Amino acid sequence: MIDPWGSSIIDYEKLTEQFGIKEFKDVVGEIPDASKLMTRGIIFGQRDYKRITDALNKNEDFATMTGMMPSGKMHIGHKMVVDQLKWYQKKGADLYLSIADMEAYAARGISKEKSREIALNEYIVNYIALGLDVTKDNVHLYLQSENDDVKDLAYTIGRKVTFSQMRSIYGFDNSTNISHIYTPLLQVADILHPQLAKYGGPKPVIVPVGPDQDPHIRLTRDLATKFNEEFGFIEPSATFHRFMTGLTGDKMSSSKPKSAIYLTDSIKDATKKVKSAKTGGRESLKEQKELGGQPDKCSIYELLVYHLIDDDKQLEEIRSKCLSGETLCGTCKQCASELLEDMFEELESKREEAQKIAESLL
Ligand code: SF4
Repeated sequence: MIDPWGSSIIDYEKLTEQFGIKEFKDVVGEIPDASKLMTRGIIFGQRDYKRITDALNKNEDFATMTGMMPSGKMHIGHKMVVDQLKWYQKKGADLYLSIADMEAYAARGISKEKSREIALNEYIVNYIALGLDVTKDNVHLYLQSENDDVKDLAYTIGRKVTFSQMRSIYGFDNSTNISHIYTPLLQVADILHPQLAKYGGPKPVIVPVGPDQDPHIRLTRDLATKFNEEFGFIEPSATFHRFMTGLTGDKMSSSKPKSAIYLTDSIKDATKKVKSAKTGGRESLKEQKELGGQPDKCSIYELLVYHLIDDDKQLEEIRSKCLSGETLCGTCKQCASELLEDMFEELESKREEAQKIAESLL
């Protein structure tokens, strides 16, 4: 069982096997101008992505949906979702961005006001500063608690889910509060409501998520089928991306400041974290020169792959110089911190304007 509110998985292979997630590399060749996250295998799994490649290749309407539970600070790992949204926006998708304030209240006890404040100042501001255009007519940004279409749909679809099904998907037990038991239905409604007649009717919808969110995807696809006759829903598609390893070598987490680079960290703090990050370097310089480094166990290399280096050739060169022992970790960290500095300078310069735009939206 995967717990979407606290999972610390991840054995990606076991997950794909156990839950029937298909490999993303099988469809990547059909995607026009696939993004780096796609071609570099960071997006590793998919469900029904063929519907999306068809829509992309035939220029047909489709939508991209994501939800954010406003419970903490945004770190650099979260940027991956924004990068995917930007890519789909460029491809002409309608975007649906749900602020899951009802879920945050039910699962974490965060008030609606607090959710709104975190969503606005932390998430939306960064989304805009990172380059997502949320002012377009086809971008639907909303708070769950203020979207009657989502709330009504959640109630309607609840008729075809039993407690026993919810318990087996999510592990709820007799002590789980009723609001929490209800929140997955809100998530399902978030994902399905772009297909309501009011929003243009049935269409492919892609939901880019981390694998810990797969229980919601499975429930949504099941309910789309059960309500196909009533609403014409087609099963939404999903992609699954790898999580970033934390700078300490464990999972990157908002609640562990040393593991994560927050998007609102000062440049000084961010680069300091890079300099003290765990690498795939050897015990001694002599050993590293002889044996080479281990880029696949290195949080700095991951940072370069996920966020800092666009050019595949340059990345390949860094990798081979690491493997051969020609480059040492100090040089590599210096390079990563300079690139990160550029990224953060740009983010900082855009944040003030982004704040004004965000406030006009919510
Ligand atoms: Fe990581 Fe660079 Fe050291 Fe290789 S040389 S282990 S990529 S920091």
